[in-house]
Amino acid sequence: MHHTGILLTILPNIIFSLIFLAGIALFTINVRKIIRNIKLGKDLNRTDNPSERWKLMVRVALGQSKMLVRPIPGILHLFVYVGFVIINIEVVEIILDGIFGTHRLFAPFLGGFYDFLIASFEILAFLVLVGVVAFYIRRNVIYIKRFRQDDLKGFPKNDANIILIIEVLLMGAFLTMNAADQVLQNKGAEHYGNYGSFPISGLITGWFEGWSVGSLIMYERFTWWFHIIGILAFMNYLPYSKHLHIAMAFPNVWYSKLKPKGELPNMEAVTREVKLMLDPSATMEEATGPVKFGAKDIQDLSWKNLMDAYSCTECGRCTSECPANITGKLLSPRAIMMKTRDRMEEVGKNIDANKGSFVDDGKSLLHSYITPEELWACTTCNACAEACPVNIDPVDIIVNLRQQLVMEESAPPASLAGMFTNMENNGAPWQFSPSDRANWREE
Ligand code: SF4
Ligand code: SF4
Repeated sequence: MHHTGILLTILPNIIFSLIFLAGIALFTINVRKIIRNIKLGKDLNRTDNPSERWKLMVRVALGQSKMLVRPIPGILHLFVYVGFVIINIEVVEIILDGIFGTHRLFAPFLGGFYDFLIASFEILAFLVLVGVVAFYIRRNVIYIKRFRQDDLKGFPKNDANIILIIEVLLMGAFLTMNAADQVLQNKGAEHYGNYGSFPISGLITGWFEGWSVGSLIMYERFTWWFHIIGILAFMNYLPYSKHLHIAMAFPNVWYSKLKPKGELPNMEAVTREVKLMLDPSATMEEATGPVKFGAKDIQDLSWKNLMDAYSCTECGRCTSECPANITGKLLSPRAIMMKTRDRMEEVGKNIDANKGSFVDDGKSLLHSYITPEELWACTTCNACAEACPVNIDPVDIIVNLRQQLVMEESAPPASLAGMFTNMENNGAPWQFSPSDRANWREE
């Protein structure tokens, strides 16, 4: 009987520990898959100039400098982001309380500083609520073109709303948990020591005044479990969601392309081919080398292109600045990033299903996901990369896929095909024979 009593007392701690470990294990598996998928891309060195990279990361990812270009959503986003990150300090206490069966474990050690922390978390939770409600209205009530475009229909739209609703529920649980806790503290309930300062939930304690101690404890425990299980579930939802950017933004900005912006890279494979053609002393050893130009599928892109795809927040700032999209062309740089991620995840699942190796599924990023029409609409103006708050470079993917079209599939756009033929036949873009070049003198 005595043993059963002890078991019943520690049962919640055991259940909590198991749920917590399962949540972390699942997250670890998902993170490893993300890293594996990014590594499907080709090598690229992006470690030069580390001091500039750290500064860039602090400014763009941590300081959100590009978000603040549009001040109202920028500030609201800052609330949500700062709140989300800082409130997670509270989660450390919640996890330890769960494992050890304690209540507000840190309070006796931190004294007045604990009150300050809880008060700050409450204010931040309130600001997160303000931000999230405003974002929900912006997405669903006010007409903002980039949130209503076709590339966001279906799961991406639901994904954004699911995240906003989860955040409202998490913050709601956190604040009402504190309110019920205060009423329990005031009633002198066992285990509920007089800790914390509650500037926001203090305003709603009236909701709980008439409740019995038993109901209050039940509510406080329910919101506690809801909050922590909600966070573990949220963490495991991230790998499937555009919300992954909360983690990816940092490495993605660190590995950005440094200046000059918009510069198109020299194609090494082409340089080598041309050298071989022009240099009679070239040897066969030099002739062996990359024979593939451009990119057809995600394995032909660089790992940074793939990291970009995982970092995309689907905010559409790129598409809203894209001259091709604005003038009604099929191209949306946001869609390019989303399709790259979709294909990468499809390839990843294929590898998982085939014991670690990719089995040709007859599909590719080019054609199955992204059409030549989209690609040829791009002017390579770089406005999308400039606008992106997490320094994503859609142009690099577009250019690589175009190189594949022209150099591997001999499928340039019709407007260029004539010029290419003329170059080949006449050595100039015009439709005149080289022998006629001097004809202009004759009159
Ligand atoms: S570079 Fe291409 S995709 Fe990007 S904004 Fe310009 S036209 Fe649009
Ligand atoms: S590429 Fe950048 S700007 Fe475009 S939707 Fe993704 S995060 Fe937003």
